[in-house]
Amino acid sequence: MSPAPVSLHNTLTRRIEPLQPLMPPRVTLYTCGPTVWNYAHIGNFRTFLFEDLLRRWLEHVGYDVFQIMNLTDVDDRTIKAARAAGKRLTEHTEPFTQAFFEDRDYLRIKPAHVYTRATEYMTPMIALVSRLLERGVAYKGEDGSVYFALAKFPTYGRLSRLDTRELKVGARVASDDYAKDDPSDFAIWKKSDAKDEAVGAAWDAPFGRGRPGWHLECSAMSLEEIGRRFGVQTLDIHAGGIDLIFPHHENEIAQSEGATGQPFARHWVHGEFLNVRGTKMSKRHGNFLTARDLREQGVDAAAVRLLFFQTHYRQPVDFTDEALDAAKEGVRRLDEFHARLRGAGSGEQGAGELTKLAEKMETDVSAALNDDLNAPRAVAALFDFVRAANRELDRGTGGGTGAALAAFERVAGVLNVLPTRKALDPELVRWVEERIAARDKARKSKDFKAADAIRAELSARGVEIEDTAQGTKWRMA
Ligand code: AMP
Ligand code: ZN
Repeated sequence: MSPAPVSLHNTLTRRIEPLQPLMPPRVTLYTCGPTVWNYAHIGNFRTFLFEDLLRRWLEHVGYDVFQIMNLTDVDDRTIKAARAAGKRLTEHTEPFTQAFFEDRDYLRIKPAHVYTRATEYMTPMIALVSRLLERGVAYKGEDGSVYFALAKFPTYGRLSRLDTRELKVGARVASDDYAKDDPSDFAIWKKSDAKDEAVGAAWDAPFGRGRPGWHLECSAMSLEEIGRRFGVQTLDIHAGGIDLIFPHHENEIAQSEGATGQPFARHWVHGEFLNVRGTKMSKRHGNFLTARDLREQGVDAAAVRLLFFQTHYRQPVDFTDEALDAAKEGVRRLDEFHARLRGAGSGEQGAGELTKLAEKMETDVSAALNDDLNAPRAVAALFDFVRAANRELDRGTGGGTGAALAAFERVAGVLNVLPTRKALDPELVRWVEERIAARDKARKSKDFKAADAIRAELSARGVEIEDTAQGTKWRMA
């Protein structure tokens, strides 16, 4: 089987390029996951949602995706937060890890095939540091930490297009995160201090007791997983938010390629930010909203997905209540259309105008998503179809509803933008059916006043009814 051609923007070349996995149909996808020092915000989830769509689309066209997501449960931030909470590291991070899984499920993000917790990968991390020391691309500083030697890795800066003349030769940086104007030898293993020991964030290693640098974690975990499972040292796709290009991904490349001599990832995909009034949503700016906030407000995940997918992943999105309301309305229209199509009898496979419209819609959606995951174009094609198909249904054109329903469900399923079906109370179902039977009886005996009263009674409890050739259909509004 040869999956359809998918092109994606590659940050390495700044071009849209066909995806060419090492071993098709397999695609190895590494997505940098959350730092579990606190709840993830919906900015983080914008990144995880674009990655979810990427994964779903690749699977839809026939790839066999293996997704790895890491959970950063040891780094500067988690240690600081554990200390502030007076807890051991894992005691502090585990509830946030579980919360992340709950939020992921609420947002209907497909679970990765493996979630690598950094604290569970100390052996490969220590082995990677040892290898970099052996190869002379890392050295132990007089402070006892191990640093990556930028001068020994001539291609450093390729991903972030760093002007290597700016490299601060001899300068060192120990913190996990730093700005682009500070490219220095960075810590891959940090000598432990009393603060690390206090929370249990210190491990023995041949080069001294300490803890891994954040960047090293992703290199070690991804190479361990693809090496052990598939015998390779190159990822097909590595993805994350644009803030990870420098220094995180630049450093991941240096460490991985410095150790293996092989390209680390064939394709680098980066998503733009979710902003609030033009400023990146972040804990630091205090302008954040968590997925659980939305869930508690009763927002259907379909609306969040639609909202994000209406903008290309390489364009910023501004989060506003109006945009969320518009997305909710969009989801409602999709649901209404879905119900209408289902009501029109899905068994019918005749070649009608609807079939033609559905075929065009699927072709347009495929072309859009194959072209650098252009979700807004795919969403537009879906809504164009809803409008045109509704017109056909208004005209009572026969045939093709079965094909239209199947196509609609396939596309809406990849985007996953139909509302969550609420389980109906059996008591309510019995009551509705009894009322509909009573209304039928009233209509048959031409007692339209009674029939209308029953319709109003149903409507008051949120039940919409529709009289069709096959009888009265109903649904919750
Ligand atoms: P962190 O938990 O900070 O390690 O971030 C997890 C992921 O969320 C990374 O891929 C970040 O690039 C991404 N991210 C952080 N803030 C935003 C934002 N406002 N919009 C989109 N992605 C973000
Ligand atoms: Zn990472």
